[in-house]
Amino acid sequence: NASLATVDADVAAAVALELHRQQSTLEMIASENFAPSAVMEAQGSVLTNKYAEGYPGKRYYGGCEHVDVIEQLAIDRVKALFGAEFANVQPHSGAQANAAAMFALLNPGDTILGLSLAHGGHLTHGMKINFSGKLYNVVPYHVREEDLRVDMAEVEALALEHKPKLIVAGWSAYSRQLDFAEFRRIADLVGAYLMVDMAHFAGLVAAGLHPNPVPYADVVTTTTHKTLGGPRGGVILAKEEYAKKINSAVFPGQQGGPLEHVVAAKAVAFKLAATPEFKERQERVLQGAQLLAERLLQPDVQEAGISVVNGGTDVHLVLVDLRHSELDGQQGEDALHHIGITVNRNAVPFDPRPPMVSSGLRIGTPALAARGFGATEFAEVADIIATALIASASTGTLPGDTAVELRARVTALAEQFPLYPHLSENSTS
Ligand code: PLP
Repeated sequence: NASLATVDADVAAAVALELHRQQSTLEMIASENFAPSAVMEAQGSVLTNKYAEGYPGKRYYGGCEHVDVIEQLAIDRVKALFGAEFANVQPHSGAQANAAAMFALLNPGDTILGLSLAHGGHLTHGMKINFSGKLYNVVPYHVREEDLRVDMAEVEALALEHKPKLIVAGWSAYSRQLDFAEFRRIADLVGAYLMVDMAHFAGLVAAGLHPNPVPYADVVTTTTHKTLGGPRGGVILAKEEYAKKINSAVFPGQQGGPLEHVVAAKAVAFKLAATPEFKERQERVLQGAQLLAERLLQPDVQEAGISVVNGGTDVHLVLVDLRHSELDGQQGEDALHHIGITVNRNAVPFDPRPPMVSSGLRIGTPALAARGFGATEFAEVADIIATALIASASTGTLPGDTAVELRARVTALAEQFPLYPHLSENSTS
């Protein structure tokens, strides 16, 4: 029963440094969050030792009486949270949830429609070297050039032309809401299944702050670690009629034994997501993103050629548009990293720069909202980001004196909202 530090000082040291990084910087990667301690406690529990192939009450292993209780709690809670008829909580990740959902509904060679990766879609929605692009005949749809919103007229035209078996609605980098009713209408027009991948915005849906795709879609997939704020993992929700097919597509179709320690952590996260505190936190997520968009639309930022994709946001992220700036995505990411703000560069639609450089930044507010940030702090972060991007715009790097001043403002915010303080105490004892 020796501690991690005793058994493996190398790993322990790296974990301690990562804890310090998370505590002392501002995490604004839109797909990240801070899992509550109760979630991490469940995930770090003895459940990691248990094999449980199968489903509650129908396992291929003995000794599953307690994990059965846990998995059933996770299933019941997530069904209630989203109003779903059926749930499978076993997918190890969002990508595996999507793979299993497609495996359940499609045969290799079938045609699917998905949002182009370059326009904000996910790898699993049909990227060429992803399983989705290799197994299925992918027809991508796009956003319109004039307002960068999903072009539903194109979706309809492509559906009529290609008669897909599945239409995927969902995104990894987009800042507006999708029209699920319109996707349903188009799917019905051509007899296609509709799958919504709500990985990014599931927490907003759970809080009632974003339309719920469950009533419209045949299948809804999600991750549990983004806005939902749980452990890393995936979930599939569906109409009851697909229950058998989806269960068998997850196990034995895609996976062996479920990660019951992660399933337990998902159950805890679903319980928390049904509370008024979670809703209040998601309201701050949205408010933070709106304050950031507003700041980045001010004249001093626009004069540096920097703008906001879609002219604002309805969700938890802002896409900074650097297409008309001398600053590129890589330089913007580096400038913010330099002052302790972590974001990722991201291609924006119709991006003139190559994907490794890109002309966009994807900046999200869920992790800072989990830390406790409200309107005052988000306005301060927005101003720090605006100042850093403007100051870097002409040369591509942040001048030293500005960097020192901004880094101090970042540190002040980080210290005002301590993260996992009990873990620091452990690591120093
Ligand atoms: N679906 C969407 C829309 C995503 O943005 C992501 C992750 O970025 C995934 C699926 C995949 O999730 P994971 O990284 O857990 O495989």
